[in-house]
Amino acid sequence: MSDKNPLPLKERMKILRTTMPALDPAERCKNFSEVNLGLTPEAAHTEAFRCISCGKPGCVQQCPVGVQIREVVELIAAEDYLGAAAKMREDNALPAITGRVCPQESQCEGGCVLGKKGQPVAIGNLERFIADYERTSGKVGMPKIAAKTGKSVAIVGSGPAGLSAAGDLIQKGHTVRVFEALHELGGVLVYGIPEFRLPKDIVRQEIDNLRHMGVEFETNVVVGKSVTIDELMRVEGYDAVFVATGAGLPQFLNIPGEHLNGVYSANEFLTRINLMRAYNPEEYDEPVYDCRDRNVIVVGGGNTAMDAVRTAKRLGAKTATLVYRRSEAEMPARLEEVHHAKEEGIQFRMLTNPVEFLGDAKGWLTGAKCVRMELGEPDSSGRRRPVAVAGSEEILPVSVVIIGVGTTANPLVQSTTPDLKTNSRNYIVADPETMRTSKRGVFAGGDIVTGGATVILAMGAGRKAATSIHEYLTSDVWEAGAPAS
Ligand code: FAD
Ligand code: SF4
Repeated sequence: MSDKNPLPLKERMKILRTTMPALDPAERCKNFSEVNLGLTPEAAHTEAFRCISCGKPGCVQQCPVGVQIREVVELIAAEDYLGAAAKMREDNALPAITGRVCPQESQCEGGCVLGKKGQPVAIGNLERFIADYERTSGKVGMPKIAAKTGKSVAIVGSGPAGLSAAGDLIQKGHTVRVFEALHELGGVLVYGIPEFRLPKDIVRQEIDNLRHMGVEFETNVVVGKSVTIDELMRVEGYDAVFVATGAGLPQFLNIPGEHLNGVYSANEFLTRINLMRAYNPEEYDEPVYDCRDRNVIVVGGGNTAMDAVRTAKRLGAKTATLVYRRSEAEMPARLEEVHHAKEEGIQFRMLTNPVEFLGDAKGWLTGAKCVRMELGEPDSSGRRRPVAVAGSEEILPVSVVIIGVGTTANPLVQSTTPDLKTNSRNYIVADPETMRTSKRGVFAGGDIVTGGATVILAMGAGRKAATSIHEYLTSDVWEAGAPAS
């Protein structure tokens, strides 16, 4: 593709990275409105001019699903925003979502050549811009749907893995039905990530697009309880099943006092707030432990912990503190969230680890005994291992503790499908390229295979699974009834 950017290279290098406008921190930390406001067409256009159209773009190499970023940015520079959105959708089915939540600093922007000496092209902000432009223009291009094949696929779970598989499979002419355990569709996109980072309307609109394409959805179906995988195939006649149930089972610290009233898992806390709208007690009757005027600590350093602590602040916490056993440099949360959290007055207690929660005679939390940590040798994750400093105990007075130290596999499908192979941590074993499992006709992908990862990786797994399921459903091998693994 020719370089559509009219500015000479030298001129492009002089343009400074555009900043994403955001709501005032003092105001936004009292409500759930989206923090980032989005780029104007002028700002997006100027930002696109910064791209130097590399021959071998590092941005594309670092994108987990290989979005043709260079071409997308060139189309923005040429002010063809709808063309740019269409190009993006060739590889990324949910750009309005990934533009908001991808950890760009370690993916596309981490590979951008401009980042070596200055600041990378703001690829995430541009992605969000074209997706929003397309959405608000009402011109979201509906892909062509192939003639019906007569085959049907059941998808278990409506997170990004399930949704992206559904979108690709319906286009290939199969009948697709998504079964979701909760009453709302979208997985972590709706029950985990808060409104102030990802407005639910955006997720709903993507789901509506899938509905218009013919995808059927059924909520409140807990596969493994309401119906098993075997029943879906043998009784209901599905030709293939894609398991995309995610990793939503919270992990705890297993320390004394974790049973006290006032100690939550981040999953429960965020689900109550996001899905049941507990932040709006006038309209929604959902109980949530009152953070108002209380000292709240959130344990962890990832996106989940960050979302929980910023939510607690918005619920009126007197102090909202993030407690993390490593240093800020090791925190897995997106850089933008760390920056926004600090602006909002979140306190960071790094190199600190709770060892016990203390309570009163009635079982209510009153404090968290913490120790100071220092970093030792790198562990298996490559990060320096935190080691407790002897004699460094101190007690933080707190009324609410939210544990956000990670999750593990949702277990129900595995426990009710005996011939589905799992690993020692109960994740489903699936081929990383074909997503086939040990059970014929059953595929799996997303967090339920990899463990807690990212939206874009789950989406990429869903797309790979769709290609593989299509091959399985249409190949002679399948017609001959060969085993799936
Ligand atoms: P999920 O999104 O977990 O969806 C699985 C779905 O399956 C759920 O809807 C669940 O209810 C349903 N399900 C489970 N069991 C059954 C069953 N038996 N029957 C029927 N349905 C079932 N990633 C990023 O890239 N950027 C971020 O900023 C980011 N922030 C995050 C913040 C939070 C609070 C959390 C928890 C995660 C975050 N992540 C982020 C990670 C990302 O959201 C996940 O990696 C991604 O959603 C995984 O997608 P999935 O489709 O595999 O599973
Ligand atoms: Fe443009 Fe950066 Fe990608 Fe090069 S690496 S094509 S400069 S976005």
